[in-house]
Amino acid sequence: MKRPTISRHVGRFRADRRVVILLILVGILVAGRTWLAEHPEHDPWAPLDLRDPAGWATETKLLALRDDPAQCRAVFERSEVAFTALEPAGEGPCRREDRVQLGDAPLSPGTPSTTCPTAMAFHLWERDVLEPAAQEVFGSKIAQVEHLGAFSCRRLYGRGSGAWSEHATANAIDIAGFVLEDGTRISVLRDWPGEGDKARFLRQVRDGACTSFATVLSPEYNAAHADHFHLDMSPRWRSVCR
Ligand SMILES: [Zn+2]
Repeated sequence: MKRPTISRHVGRFRADRRVVILLILVGILVAGRTWLAEHPEHDPWAPLDLRDPAGWATETKLLALRDDPAQCRAVFERSEVAFTALEPAGEGPCRREDRVQLGDAPLSPGTPSTTCPTAMAFHLWERDVLEPAAQEVFGSKIAQVEHLGAFSCRRLYGRGSGAWSEHATANAIDIAGFVLEDGTRISVLRDWPGEGDKARFLRQVRDGACTSFATVLSPEYNAAHADHFHLDMSPRWRSVCR
């Protein structure tokens, strides 16, 4: 008579324990979903909104936009970033299906049209890297980002054969320097080799560019980049940062 009673108790205990474990798991799942809903930047399935802080899922989502101009434009619209969608232009390897122009970027001279992913990477770089770095190093805002152009129908390094440059589709932009609101000028060519605040600022913003652009080439890469940062959204490489 005793044995069945004990095993009935043990059996009920085992069943109770399974229920408790199940309830804990459900609790963790619900808490996790609630947490993800409050932190969409960490949720790989949440639509990207650039107003959210950067999170675990942000880089993957940005990289995925490189092949998806429509989705990229949807993210700009959702995030209320001012931009103009332009008509496709050009022929052959320099055909640009995806052309947009940022609405209020401090680019000088003027804001060039680029691919949407390049415009987006620039927007994030300006907001999350350039402005904080200028504030931290100089206590000033950025007035101008001086560029050397985005579109150029040519192969890599202007060679007669070989792979086409990302500039051939304006999927890249070359940055030569910065002007702060207090009038300070920072030049990649002049100030990169130094050791003062300007050199520190340049290294900081070069490193920071690597979180939003796929490829970042600076004077450290080779002599062809002594006077500018080459920033692009190439789908071939992932985070080349030199
Ligand atoms: Zn370039």
